[in-house]
Amino acid sequence: MVTLPELVPPPVVLPDRVGALRAEVRAFLAEERAADAWRPRADAWLSGWDERFSKELGRRGWLGMAIPTEYGGHARGALERYVVTEELLAAGAPVAAHWIADRQIGPSLMRFGTEEQRQRFLPGIAAGEVYFGIGMSEPDSGSDLASVRSKADRVDGGWELTGTKVWTSGAHHAHALFSLVRTSPRDDANQHAGLSQLIVELDSPGVTIRPIPLLTGAHHFNEVVFDKVFVPDAMVLGEIGQGWHQVTSELAFERSGPERYLSTFPLLVALLGEISGQELDAGRRRDLGGLVARYWTLRRMSLAVAGALEAGEAPELAAAVVKDLGTRFEIEVIDVCRLLLSVPPDPGAEAGFARLLADAVLHAPGFTLRGGTNEILRGIVARGLGLR
Ligand SMILES: Cc1cc2nc3c(=O)[nH]c(=O)nc-3n(C[C@H](O)[C@H](O)[C@H](O)COP(=O)(O)OP(=O)(O)OC[C@H]3O[C@@H](n4cnc5c(N)ncnc54)[C@H](O)[C@@H]3O)c2cc1C
Repeated sequence: MVTLPELVPPPVVLPDRVGALRAEVRAFLAEERAADAWRPRADAWLSGWDERFSKELGRRGWLGMAIPTEYGGHARGALERYVVTEELLAAGAPVAAHWIADRQIGPSLMRFGTEEQRQRFLPGIAAGEVYFGIGMSEPDSGSDLASVRSKADRVDGGWELTGTKVWTSGAHHAHALFSLVRTSPRDDANQHAGLSQLIVELDSPGVTIRPIPLLTGAHHFNEVVFDKVFVPDAMVLGEIGQGWHQVTSELAFERSGPERYLSTFPLLVALLGEISGQELDAGRRRDLGGLVARYWTLRRMSLAVAGALEAGEAPELAAAVVKDLGTRFEIEVIDVCRLLLSVPPDPGAEAGFARLLADAVLHAPGFTLRGGTNEILRGIVARGLGLR
């Protein structure tokens, strides 16, 4: 008989101290909006690249919140970081520039990085000045990540890297990429062996970055080609040959955060603005109430994962559950908004419901793909439950 392990860690109650922090973040966001510094966008954590905004967050101590102070961070923990990120996402603020660095590069450097790497990158990450990309996917390796063919050969003082990465978010602006590469030939009996993570600085000779336009025409994705790029030993992350283990331990950070259910929240806020004062029939009230109830549930689950991360655990299974449910929910929010307000999407509008709707619709196909597709996540859940 299969015994069901706990799918999601125990619930977390946010400590009282976060109330003041939340109020500060809200007041800051209101000031920025009053100054028209940016317009709320759906999926802004992917597309809202605004280095001024990231530096301002850094100046206020809202990046690198879980990084120790000796590396420029604030030692405030995962739950306080959670409160800041959920406020930023709910407001549709332009957080893309620092997103990857703050979410997973910082924690990975703390876990696997050398003292030199931490000192070199963490203060800039906490200041909102140093940006990273993730170089995992390749033209023939997405879900089957262990099949990556980018390969690094041993040379004097380091590694010579050749290969191609695709769908690399933000690489055209980023300073460096965490790249998963093969450092010894593939062994069919153990395909996860022989993989390593290299920190590739994107101004290195031999790196070419080419745009892959989004459906919207915007430049977000890239193809990154490595042609005999020299990566010094000092830029090997963790241990050679341990890349698979390291990458999978990053995934709980990548899959469980509030960005996995809040990408379309600004659209819901705009909808509520448009329909405020209207009498809604029972069916519409039920649709809206259903969304709010599910937001609340997803938030509890996602917070529970943040609590487990704070306790030093690696809740990969729970993170997969949150991401699968959360990303499908983000798409349902669009469907309900379209049912409740008959306004055509307008990608050319400056702001407002029609623009948010256009961004949400055009970005939605990526929600259940990025960070691991839902089919793959369900495989992880099935394995965790002992069903495969
Ligand atoms: C918006 C966005 C941003 C991204 N940013 C980055 C980035 O910064 N860095 C990066 O490295 N990658 C990035 N990616 C790539 C992303 O990680 C991959 O798209 C994803 O892992 C799927 O890989 P693939 O596109 O090659 O699809 P494939 O792996 O070819 O999958 C195609 C389809 O087959 C299904 N499938 C595949 N294998 C199985 C299986 N074993 N069982 C059941 N179904 C299966 C998949 O679920 C999917 O529906 C991004 C993607 C998107 C959409």
